[in-house]
Amino acid sequence: MEQKLEILQYCPICKSNEIAESLQVKDFFQSREIFGIYKCKYCGFHFTNPRPNEQSIGSYYKSENYYSHSNSNSGLIAKIYQKVRNYTLEKKYKLVSSYSAKGNILDIGCATGQFLNQFMQKGWACQGIEPDDSAREFAKTQYGLEVQKSNLNHLPGNHFNVITMWHVLEHVHDLQEYLKQLRRLIKKDGVVFIALPNIQSYDANHYKEYWAGLDVPRHLYHFGRENVEQLFNQSGFQLLITKPMVFDSFYVSLLSEKYKSNPFHLFSAFFMGLLSNISGMGEKPNHSSLIYIFKPI
Ligand SMILES: [Zn+2]
Repeated sequence: MEQKLEILQYCPICKSNEIAESLQVKDFFQSREIFGIYKCKYCGFHFTNPRPNEQSIGSYYKSENYYSHSNSNSGLIAKIYQKVRNYTLEKKYKLVSSYSAKGNILDIGCATGQFLNQFMQKGWACQGIEPDDSAREFAKTQYGLEVQKSNLNHLPGNHFNVITMWHVLEHVHDLQEYLKQLRRLIKKDGVVFIALPNIQSYDANHYKEYWAGLDVPRHLYHFGRENVEQLFNQSGFQLLITKPMVFDSFYVSLLSEKYKSNPFHLFSAFFMGLLSNISGMGEKPNHSSLIYIFKPI
């Protein structure tokens, strides 16, 4: 039989072999298979292990319920997701444009292109990367965006004023190679925005193996703040600041309560989302999801 799983012997960030399983997690979303989450004893990084290899992971995305790619509007969670997404799209636009003058933007994992379209409307030169065929076609035909399937190698170096990855890096197999490409593509005075679930957040600690931010096996990595900073420092980036994503805690809590089969999931999720956001406030935000803003060194 064709080999579909790959086993990591080393920590993907610090390369230590002092790694051990810390949690077993079910793929509640689709396959119902169990995956291990390993922790590096040296740097504290968490990662899914063993994991589907690049050739086989596609089958774990084949679900009509994968909201990130879906514009259908049925079901309560999907409805909430759509409303919040429209609001956060606007907020993301404001955040990004407050860090950079108009120029070239690359959105990696651009899905159906709503985020990039805002920039195109304002006269930015936009490029997208999206592996999902139907999402990519939608972005091209609906908005006339330039979107490629995957390969960053073909894009020009020292070219982009802004690169964004909204909840994408946790899906990338070869982290170091990807970061090398980001460093090559970004202009010397450019800015990179990386949004990731935060395994150190209050809701992650509360829900443990039910935390929807784990999303195995689609999420290959489960980042904490120090892991992200170390990884990007290794690749020639410096962290400017982190920003909270306050709606993610409600959405992730709602899904997590569903995974726990809690009949009072709406109430509990709202309460937990609120708690998570309050406990995440501080000089260094510790919310359910964080946006890391980097510049090249
Ligand atoms: Zn490590």
